Amino acid sequence: SHQTDWHAIRADFPILNQEVRGHPLIYFDSAASSQKPRAVLDALLHYYERDNANVHRGLHELSSRATEAYENARSKVARYLNAATPEEIVFTRGTTEGINLVAQAWGSRFVREGDVILLTEMEHHSNLVPWQLLAQRTGATLRFIPVNEDGTLDLTELPSLLTPEVKIFAFTHISNSLGTINPAAELIAASHAVGAITLLDAAQSGGHLPLDVQALNADFVVISGHKMCAPTGIGALYGSAELLEATPPWHGGGEMIVSVGFQSSTYKPAPYKFEAGTPNIAGAVGLGAAIDYLEAIGRDAIFAHDADLAAYAMRRLRELPDLRIHGPERRGGLVGFTMPAIHPHDLTTYADRYGLALRGGHHCNQPLMKKFRLPGTTRASFYFYNTKEEIDRMTEILFQAHHFFA
Ligand code: PMP
Repeated sequence: SHQTDWHAIRADFPILNQEVRGHPLIYFDSAASSQKPRAVLDALLHYYERDNANVHRGLHELSSRATEAYENARSKVARYLNAATPEEIVFTRGTTEGINLVAQAWGSRFVREGDVILLTEMEHHSNLVPWQLLAQRTGATLRFIPVNEDGTLDLTELPSLLTPEVKIFAFTHISNSLGTINPAAELIAASHAVGAITLLDAAQSGGHLPLDVQALNADFVVISGHKMCAPTGIGALYGSAELLEATPPWHGGGEMIVSVGFQSSTYKPAPYKFEAGTPNIAGAVGLGAAIDYLEAIGRDAIFAHDADLAAYAMRRLRELPDLRIHGPERRGGLVGFTMPAIHPHDLTTYADRYGLALRGGHHCNQPLMKKFRLPGTTRASFYFYNTKEEIDRMTEILFQAHHFFA
């Protein structure tokens, strides 16, 4: 097996090679948004310099090139997730839009008063608020799998919560604040056993570990391009062919129709019936390039590198007096922590003075922070372009902060 040259890979990211406030940038906020390699930037430039036109409409050369580039990107996403066909991939703006599509379009047909929508206490607001809207509209109720003190799901509660009234169980694959990796295959199988379908929020896992929708027997899976080296404003929803076919359209407009009359219209099959209007063509091209890039490195290698950095960071952070790490030992590439004397916002602002980009706050997990009685946490999140030397430097800066705020 070949030895990955992580330093050469890091050099693919032009943005990392800069100083911030007179210090070398340390970018530890990839869970919020990842950086983009040269290959993705080049793909965007190439598309706009040579192929740009609208898709599926014009009968001219550039339009067919743009259409081919867009559909080629769809095939790459399908291959990346191991979907059976590209028609099971709907392009979206990102995870948030994918969840709203399912909650609104699938939910409007299949969720009724008295039904239950099952979530967990560790969901990002984007996998909570769309279901609240659906519940309020339909009279369905929400249930939550509790989170243990150690940041894992309390699955002893599963049999009493995952009952035949549950229509859909929507849960995150990797928690964006705790780093917890949830047992997706097991939770999907348990849902199917009671006749529920599932939505897997793969915002934090899509670019970080191998995802195989057929092996998982997944129903809906959502990802965000910007967290996996692609541009902002592009993402994907995987839905099994059967479920996408049964789901009615949500946005109406051009591109999604077969024929339109003044009173009513007929729609294209999935995925096109879910893609009204001019899509983010360049974004899809960028996502395709990002997928090629990630596949060349290998997701097993990326996951191992992430886990190695997270383990090293936890070891170093434990040298700080009173620092508390939140979440389980086994985790994805992020570490959320608190220092009792320093508010997360102050700590993050302090770190920024030294070119260290952390995230401080509730991380769109307000109910979870409230449950743990935390004002928020400070989060360092890693990707394959980060190094242990950067973690050493972070540890120094945090020691300095500890003395500064003491
Ligand atoms: N779910 C999780 C677990 C996330 O971490 C995020 C992004 N922070 C989202 C959903 C929402 O993703 P986006 O903002 O790209 O739609």
